[in-house]
Amino acid sequence: MPDLPLACGACHDAAGAEGRDRYEGKPGIVDEPSALWVDRAPREPLPHGPLADLRPQLGGDRDVWIALTHDGELLRLDLDRRTVAPLARISPALLERTDDRPDPLRLHVARDARLAAVVQRRGRGGAVVDLETGRTTMELSRGDYHEEHCEYPCAFVQRAGRTLLVHGTDWNRLDVSDARTGELLTVRESPVYARDERPAHYLDYFHCGLLVSPDQRSICEHGWVWHPYGVVIAWSLDAWLDTNVWESEDGPTRRSLAAAAYFWDGPMCWLDGTRLATWGLGEDDPLLPAIRVFDVPSEREIDWFPGPPAGDLVFDGGVLVSLAGDAGTTAWDVDRGTRLLHDAHPAATRFHPTAKTFVAFDRPGLVTARLCGHQARWHDGVVADLAAAIARDRTFADLPVLGDALERAGCTDAELLAHCQQPGDHGDRCWAIDRLLSRPRG
Ligand SMILES: [Zn+2]
Repeated sequence: MPDLPLACGACHDAAGAEGRDRYEGKPGIVDEPSALWVDRAPREPLPHGPLADLRPQLGGDRDVWIALTHDGELLRLDLDRRTVAPLARISPALLERTDDRPDPLRLHVARDARLAAVVQRRGRGGAVVDLETGRTTMELSRGDYHEEHCEYPCAFVQRAGRTLLVHGTDWNRLDVSDARTGELLTVRESPVYARDERPAHYLDYFHCGLLVSPDQRSICEHGWVWHPYGVVIAWSLDAWLDTNVWESEDGPTRRSLAAAAYFWDGPMCWLDGTRLATWGLGEDDPLLPAIRVFDVPSEREIDWFPGPPAGDLVFDGGVLVSLAGDAGTTAWDVDRGTRLLHDAHPAATRFHPTAKTFVAFDRPGLVTARLCGHQARWHDGVVADLAAAIARDRTFADLPVLGDALERAGCTDAELLAHCQQPGDHGDRCWAIDRLLSRPRG
């Protein structure tokens, strides 16, 4: 606990008159030594224009991405094979500027990378595009009520072989559609005020900041209510899609989590199907740099710890990673609330969950990075020798042998073991090997 500052009566009253809570200093971060390190590789420029956004194409550890250029072209970038494939072009109407922000468009890509949605971040419109045919499958609109104050709510969901899209259709309404056919799956009347009487299911909430849980069964968002007050809300996609079309308004699974005045669209990250990490501590903007962890079903905050400055959050390999722009990249042990790594280079902007690469696309050239050394337990002995040999000779066919050795040695990291057993293409290099190596190779 830091020493509390002393303030004279006049200063205290002046702070109170501003109507804002005041903080002095920051909570102390606890650093814990770890074997994590960042391996950074500048890529030779590929023939494409400046990118507006970039999203991973999942599957294997091939470094393949779907890119959106500022000209509205959708491309597939294979950073391992160094190829650029044009896929589609969005309607020129979406390129019309709705504000003067430097990054007016946002790209979302379905898990199977067959469909993409492009939305105006602070604007009214968007479209879903079939990346195989170039055809537009859905036009999106969220109306024109204060849309400039928050990000266009949009998120793909993969369920029972179908690709669904959760998307804003009004400031206080979300819908779910079949992204390929446009079929509306949440058919309901929008409640309308009549003579000052609040109708059933009416929701006073500006939707934004959607995030689907890794098991595709829950969704959370970080929107806001008058007078601007941000509230993180989560609810069950199962309930919404299977039993109650009003689940997003007032269904029984709806949970209110972190809340703070003047703060929404903040960083969040699912840790698993039920735990959600949110950024920032306090009741009023500016928030203190911290991570809060909620158990969503019970609506209970289970932990918090002093954390990184505001930046996108990624949870992978049991490590929470914060990508905080010029403040760099940090990695955190969520259970212990400790900082495992601080890499001061400007942070990447996107993470590839199956290639395990971080890419910075918003500066000249593409820079990829990978977090390495997670598995400090195996940095010596048979496992380390096997990993070093596979890395040196690029004998990825021997990965199942490495997987067996890991299992015999007591490794329980299911994703790592599964990856070692998987046959096939391991891109330029394999993330499983990188996690086992304690230092740059070569
Ligand atoms: Zn691999």
